[in-house]
Amino acid sequence: MTALFVVAVLFFIGYLVSLKIHPLRKCPVCKMTGRHFGGVFTYSYRRCRKCNGTGRMDRWGTQAFFGGTNHTGVYPKK
Ligand SMILES: [Zn+2]
Repeated sequence: MTALFVVAVLFFIGYLVSLKIHPLRKCPVCKMTGRHFGGVFTYSYRRCRKCNGTGRMDRWGTQAFFGGTNHTGVYPKK
């Protein structure tokens, strides 16, 4: 049981380090293109509303543990 706890803690620490190095993930809506194409006129598109056209999204842990980067990938200076 103790070993399982240690493994869980190590995994969690690794997750936090990973969040610092890679705070972003792909936008699930536009797949990082930042664009949302029309259904009829397929050449037409608008900015993706989910990620505001950046294609970048904060990871869940980035927001939960570090307050988020506002989807920029840059942590605010303290
Ligand atoms: Zn998007």
